[in-house]
This record gives sequence, structure tokens and C-alpha cells, in this order.
Amino acid sequence: MVGLTILGLELSADAQRAAVTAAQMREDGARAKIEVRPLRAGVSALMGSGGNILVTSGPDGKLAVDSGYATSKRQIERALSSISSEPLRHLINTHWHFDHTDGNEWMHKARALIVAQAKTRTRMSSHQVIPAFDAVLPPSPAAALPSIIFEDARKMRINGSDIHLQRYTPAHTETDISVFFPEANVLHTGDTWFNGYYPFIDYDSGGSIHGFLKAASENLSLADQETIVVPGHGEPGHRSDLVAFEEMLQSVYVNVEAQKKSGRPLAVVIESKPTSQFDAKWGGGFITPALLISLMYRGA
Ligand SMILES: [Zn+2]
Repeated sequence: MVGLTILGLELSADAQRAAVTAAQMREDGARAKIEVRPLRAGVSALMGSGGNILVTSGPDGKLAVDSGYATSKRQIERALSSISSEPLRHLINTHWHFDHTDGNEWMHKARALIVAQAKTRTRMSSHQVIPAFDAVLPPSPAAALPSIIFEDARKMRINGSDIHLQRYTPAHTETDISVFFPEANVLHTGDTWFNGYYPFIDYDSGGSIHGFLKAASENLSLADQETIVVPGHGEPGHRSDLVAFEEMLQSVYVNVEAQKKSGRPLAVVIESKPTSQFDAKWGGGFITPALLISLMYRGA
């Protein structure tokens, strides 16, 4: 087995790898069944292809948050048509990852303007690698690139509703933004929150565990008791779910950090099972306990 060396320690590649590869995820996209889930006040979630997609519709046309896999185009088009006959006119990307932007090209060709944080465009414009998912991504085609970009924050008003875009402290990646619909009180956190799964920290895209912990508290300040919070992956939830997520992250990280500072090698830290009390609730996704621990260890 090929090993990876981190801080001079030989580690099995399995501990560094997600439970699925990017190629498998894209293949799943071709077979994806898209569920249309009305949330509140005209905001719906489209779930089933890559990251969760949000949709609103009205006289300004449809707005989508994230675009799923390109391989799900047919199913996503059908789901969009089931909401209304308005054409798709705006697309917001929560971050650059392909499971949230792979559908950008076809959506742009359908005449959607694409809005994102500036570094989403930068990342999509060049070759990217995500080793944990065996993902090697060539530059995206020009039509897939966001054309309206911003640095820290942007407010838009579409279909009579405000939309607040706010950059996070670099967390999951350096391109993450939250998308908040204040009238509907619906928040999309991008991949700064996975509901019911351990999160992924993409250091190769500028993410870090310290930023991730900050983003977890930024999400708590964005949501009140009534907010419907839509994660990048998993079921929509509420503020109490964000609290549970932050507590899990803090608890595991304090343990991993203390062990690293005391000089324990990563393999020993993984062996000590610092996530054991959380695995039943959070460990069933594509980020395994060993991968989460190695990601935390890397930034500790
Ligand atoms: Zn992501």
C-alpha cells in the first residue's frame, strides 16, 4: 500500500482518504434522484446531486444556490421545471468544489449569471487537486466561471427578496460563503456544515481546522431559533444542530490537539479513537473518523 508522509510519519493512505472518490461521486450524479423539498416562503431545496441546491423563483427568473454534478443535468432541469416555468437567471456558488459547481457550465449556457467569492473563480480557473477524494480537476471551461465576484460580502435583491452573501473565515476552503435569505429565514452554509456527517477540511484549497472552528461559530451567529439551516450535505436542520456540530468539533479537536502537542504520532492518535463517542451520530458519511482525525492533526 502506498503511504503518505506527514511530519515525517508514515501513514497508511486509507487514513487519508475519503470513503468515496470524486469519480464515484460524479458517476452517482448520473443516476441521482433529485428530491424537491419546499422549505419556506418560496425557497426550496433540491437534494440528491452533490451539494444541496437552493432555488427561488419569481419575475426575475429562477435563482439557484450551487449547481450539483453536470451528470445530473437532466434530473435537475426536470426538478427546476417542477417549481415553475421561469427561466434560470442567477446561480450563486457557495464555494469552488466540483460537487457544487460541476453544473455551472450548463446553467450558464441556459443564461444564468454566476455569482461567487473571488477565490472561487480563481480556483476554478486553474488545475486543482483534492488528494482525499483522488480528485484531479482541470481548469473549468470559461462558461462555468463566476462572472460576478466579490471579496467579503454582497447583498442582492432578486424576486423581491434580499439575499445576503457573506464570506467565512477560510474554513472548508478559502472560497466559502454563506447565503442567507432573511425574509424566508433560510441559511445555506455551504460545506462549513455537514448535517450528520464529519466535515471535510480542504487544506489544499486554503481550509484549516482553526478556520473551521471559527466558521462553526459564525454559523451560530447567522442563525436564530427559527432559521432553516441548509448544510452542504445532509438534511436541512436548525440552530440546535449547529450547536451539536460545534460541540462535536471542539471536543474532538481539543483531544487531538493535546495528543499532538504531547508528541504522539498521528497513527497513535487515530488508534486512541478520540471520536468514539460521536461516531454513531456523525461517522457514517464519506469522511471517516480516521480522515477527520488526520485533518485535525494536520492543523493542530
Ligand atoms: Zn466542498
